[in-house]
Amino acid sequence: MLTTTKVETFRNLIGGDWSETQSGQTFLSINPANKEEIVGVFQASNEEDVRQAIDAASRAFPQWAATAPSKRATILNKAADILEQSADTLAEELTREEGKHVNDARNEVLRSAQTLRFYAVEGQSFTGETFPHDDPNMKVSTEREPLGVISVITPWNFPISIPARKIAPALITGNTVVFKPSSDTPLIAFRLVEALHNAGIPKGVINFVTGKSSDIGDLLVTHEAVKAVTFTGSTIAGEDIHSKSSFNTRTQMELGGKNPIIIMDDADLDLAATLTVNGAFSLSGQACTGTSRVIVLQNVKDAYINRLIEKTKNLKIGNGFEEGVKIGPVANHRQLKNILNYIDIGVKEGAKLVYGGNQITDGQYAKGYYVEPTIFTDVRPDMRIAQEEIFGPVVAVIEVSTYEEAMEVANGSDYGLSASIVTNSLHIASDFTKKIQAGTVKVNRTTTGNLMNAPFGGFKKSSTATFRESGRVGLEFFTQVKTVYVGY
Ligand code: NAD
Repeated sequence: MLTTTKVETFRNLIGGDWSETQSGQTFLSINPANKEEIVGVFQASNEEDVRQAIDAASRAFPQWAATAPSKRATILNKAADILEQSADTLAEELTREEGKHVNDARNEVLRSAQTLRFYAVEGQSFTGETFPHDDPNMKVSTEREPLGVISVITPWNFPISIPARKIAPALITGNTVVFKPSSDTPLIAFRLVEALHNAGIPKGVINFVTGKSSDIGDLLVTHEAVKAVTFTGSTIAGEDIHSKSSFNTRTQMELGGKNPIIIMDDADLDLAATLTVNGAFSLSGQACTGTSRVIVLQNVKDAYINRLIEKTKNLKIGNGFEEGVKIGPVANHRQLKNILNYIDIGVKEGAKLVYGGNQITDGQYAKGYYVEPTIFTDVRPDMRIAQEEIFGPVVAVIEVSTYEEAMEVANGSDYGLSASIVTNSLHIASDFTKKIQAGTVKVNRTTTGNLMNAPFGGFKKSSTATFRESGRVGLEFFTQVKTVYVGY
């Protein structure tokens, strides 16, 4: 039975007004740790709502593009103040909606505020170049101009930090935005938009529509006024969006991963096991950069696996509000089914299940979507559990005889988001960083985690081969270059 007391209804933001959908329909956001608890009621928008949001963004664009960058920055900074002041409450809401531990949720809210501040500064000095040439009476330079209306489409797993790292660079460079969050995490997305609204952003500069991608996804991508789509989510959805976009709509797709960690035979095996546990099981394995393949040298395999199992046993599983919990629920029923299905596939493929493998349903766990951290060994590189993104707390251990074989296995994937190696050899480490096909490469660190001020993106099917997100280069996607020749 669903809890129905004191449930708030949240509206779209279109042209500066909070509005209900034309469809008259709503949907519920549910707590994955307690599926009987409704976190909020949201608008199940239709294409008419999206059309109005895009029209509002189009109308607001000329004036916002002409607004001084310092004024745009002031609004981002005020919104950051609001997020920081309400970080504790927002963290609780994020945990109730998505399931990650409240400390992680708080860090995510604070990082999002920092992202707004970072782009408030970087965006003000993001500019073109001047070019030397032979004519003494001419100046040649480039200017960076905003694109226009940007569609921002985001997933549930970093439901405020991913929107922040797209929306902040879009706004500071003078674009206007239509933002559609994941239907699993609309509340924290609403809070980000609310912060910008309360910070005084002009009407229509940021618009917010919630709803199903099957109802509104196409128009967000194909409307002729949309000049760019920045998307983070699954590779299948990214390919669909990219293929539907017109040739002069920019796309930036941050997609799935199948991230390997290589354990060399000179590695500190305690460190290797800790890095694996943190990379594979934190956030219940629901990070795009999460470790999902371990490639371990044969002669240290047993010693490493023993340590990995011991450390996994110590992980506390539970509600994200409980002290010391390392593994929360997975985000929704679809996720739960998908993860359990992959565990089944792994068993049928002949991999050896050495730890976990079950849904947890006793006591308090019965109310939520909990899966045990799961370790498979004796995995062959061509098995589905070694090739397909599972996006849950499941790790596939593949044994190899040499470093060369490890590299072949690591690169033998359609994905190329993040990769790591554990070794004490500088020679191996530097060879690895050169030859690995991944956008984020780590040595003696987890595959997860990326800095706000450094570029982020993947190779192969993990990203479109276009623009990087994050850091200063994250501004490039949102501007076009005009080359100006002035004679005098
Ligand atoms: P998803 O692809 O199902 O949905 C992401 C967003 O896109 C949602 O808002 C959804 O409603 C919308 N959407 C889905 N199909 C669409 C379509 N055809 N047209 C328009 N919009 C559409 O992904 P998810 O389940 O929310 O998130 C998990 C996935 O995101 C994983 O594959 C993970 O690897 C990936 N991810 C990647 C990164 C990265 O930076 N590379 C970061 C986080 C998550």
